[in-house]
Amino acid sequence: MTVLCDSWQRVINYLRISVTDHCNLNCLYCTGGVSIPPAPRSYALTYEEISRVVEVAAGLGITTVRLTGGEPLLRPDLSRLIGMLGHIDGIKEIALTTNGILLGALAEELKTAGLKRVNVSLDTLQPEKFEKITGSKRLSDVIGGIEAARQAGLNPVKINMVVLRGINDNEIVDFARKTISDGWHIRYIEFMPFGALKSEVGEMVSAEEIRERIKILGNLEPYTGEGGNGPARYYRFAGAKGTIGFISPMTEHFCHSCNRLRLTSDGHLRPCLLDDDEVDLKTALRAGVGTEDLKELIRRAVSLKQEQHHLAEGVGPSKRSMRGIGG
Ligand code: SF4
Repeated sequence: MTVLCDSWQRVINYLRISVTDHCNLNCLYCTGGVSIPPAPRSYALTYEEISRVVEVAAGLGITTVRLTGGEPLLRPDLSRLIGMLGHIDGIKEIALTTNGILLGALAEELKTAGLKRVNVSLDTLQPEKFEKITGSKRLSDVIGGIEAARQAGLNPVKINMVVLRGINDNEIVDFARKTISDGWHIRYIEFMPFGALKSEVGEMVSAEEIRERIKILGNLEPYTGEGGNGPARYYRFAGAKGTIGFISPMTEHFCHSCNRLRLTSDGHLRPCLLDDDEVDLKTALRAGVGTEDLKELIRRAVSLKQEQHHLAEGVGPSKRSMRGIGG
């Protein structure tokens, strides 16, 4: 079996693919609530081009793919891409991260096409605050999408909550309670202030503080059942069906176990979320690049991976918004 390793001996086996930078929400911690005009659709890689990159990357050791955006479900006929990726040798799992708005209508179809699991971004359970954070009134569609995904068997459906002090941190315990009452799998994500977002959005709440706050509901037991390819550390309350995960890039970063690359919607391979280095694959693909040369470009991206990010020191990417990278 081929293994892709970077200069820090980390095995790289996970590819996050942004299939579009279009989104039907304007989340404060992603765009600062500002409407950013997305790139023309023609900028995006075609499904055939994405599939080619994944095929060659699988030959180098990539085994898991996660589809992201913007909002990936805005890309027409996404099930066709999932079906294409599902036929590639070496790809063991296809996952998706969505804001859930369109998930209700598509969950069954995505599952049938070969999708294994889904993460849904949800930062509040209150309709007015949902509108404040996202600019939309469609909280009930997201809740309906989560339920539809669970019914369709896209389990575990994980709920990603970006915690912002003074905006939604007063719901930390409410989300934790959902792991007991409804069996939800919650992941608390520390806000990453980068690019234009630094000052205006709100303050990060550390994983440590969140753990302290939810102790009111009982003791957290470490939990290792969740799996997945992500950086989260999992726990659960005694007897709860749901779990609690922490993704803490600012206070307890996980770069030492980084296993990923990111493909942007306009075809650039990005070694790290929090660094602007990229390798342009689209130009090569549209110039008819051969498989060996494409492999070389992928290896070059891996060789550019930094040991860790420096966002806590205020050093971060500036060339793209989170929406343009895919989180
Ligand atoms: S910040 Fe960069 S190096 Fe660290 S885990 Fe994320 S992608 Fe990997």
